[in-house]
Amino acid sequence: MKKVHFLLAVTLLIITIGASGCLSSPKDKDVLFQISMFSVLSEGVYDGDVTFEGLKRHGDFGIGTFNGLDGEMVAVASEFYQIKADGKAYSVEGSMKTPFAVVTFFEPDKAVSLDKVLDYEQLSQYLDSMLPTRNIFYAIRVEGAFSYIKARSVPAQSKPYPPLAEALKGQTTFELHDVTGTLVGFWCPTYVEGINVPGYHFHFITSDRKAGGHLLDCQIESGKIEIDYTSEFFMMLLRGEKFYELNLEAR
Ligand SMILES: [Zn+2]
Repeated sequence: MKKVHFLLAVTLLIITIGASGCLSSPKDKDVLFQISMFSVLSEGVYDGDVTFEGLKRHGDFGIGTFNGLDGEMVAVASEFYQIKADGKAYSVEGSMKTPFAVVTFFEPDKAVSLDKVLDYEQLSQYLDSMLPTRNIFYAIRVEGAFSYIKARSVPAQSKPYPPLAEALKGQTTFELHDVTGTLVGFWCPTYVEGINVPGYHFHFITSDRKAGGHLLDCQIESGKIEIDYTSEFFMMLLRGEKFYELNLEAR
């Protein structure tokens, strides 16, 4: 009799663990999770309070920046990197914080191999032809051989922070030739203007994870395109007086 009770208890425990696992994962996986909004970053609010340790609970793939606008963030296959103004990739400490980031759990709904040479504009047009609608979000991963990459990063800003357009005047650009790597990014609908960046926004990282940046231009020779259709959007606003005092109504 005791043995039966023990088995029953073990079985119930397994069912409970199994059920909670099923309930939580699909919900999280279809969400585009965003910290702050692009218009706030544009106004020069460069300090957030969410750590990368916290951000990782909401995605294993994405782009963004760091407190103080200290470089470009790229996350791929659960690894988070900081591309500093020297163009090199550094691993991100969990205690570091972000004022703007967009992440999701990447699960492609569509994948195609690419066997033709495309420049950035042609790649954008090719991606356009793959999107079933222009009314949802897409996470896009393009892994391949690139004959040309032009990317940029920005140096950390000092207070009082300048607006983004001013800070970008101090950006550094890098050109890479004949590298393999991954474009990590999103396509956002036009209606998110101000909230995010409508259209494509990619960050690049080399396959040796040593260099990258915010993508300005590229030429891809061959590769694989993967697209994750994303219909849920969650935005976490910043806390603190810099954001609270910002007048977004005049825009
Ligand atoms: Zn960027």
